[in-house]
Parts: sequence; structure tokens; C-alpha cells
Amino acid sequence: MPDKLQIDFKTSTRSLTGDRGVFYEATNRAIIVLPNHESYDDILATIQHESIHFCLKDTDDLDDEHEESIIWKMAWAEYDLI
Ligand SMILES: [Zn+2]
Repeated sequence: MPDKLQIDFKTSTRSLTGDRGVFYEATNRAIIVLPNHESYDDILATIQHESIHFCLKDTDDLDDEHEESIIWKMAWAEYDLI
């Protein structure tokens, strides 16, 4: 499997109710659920979020909560708010 991130956009929420996006490490695929977003900027933030999951996927000493914490801090650091 190529070590590239594939991003797919979903236009319905039938299988991922409530989620804005998800990253599947086994296939290096992120799904962005468009109807669960409120704005274009919101969509870009989700793409960034799932892309960072891809970048961190080979870091063995991070669990899911660590990854979420890192991604959250990166998002807010952009605005000097942490
Ligand atoms: Zn996440």
C-alpha cells in the first residue's frame, strides 16, 4: 500500500452519523463527511485534523487521546491561543 493519504468526501451521513471525519490507518484513507460541517473553513479544519492523524500514524508511543490532544493544540496554536 502506498504511504500516501487518500481523502474521500462523503455527501451523506448514513454510515458515519455525527462524525465530521475519520481516518482509517489500515488503508491510509480519510473520509470527510460534508453534511456534518457548518462552513468551508470547518471542512478545511477537518481535512487538516485527519491529515495530522495520517502524519502521526507511525508514532508508536501515542494513543488516540494523545493524538487528539496534539491535533487540538496544533489547531489553536495557529492563533496563538494556547
Ligand atoms: Zn481525530
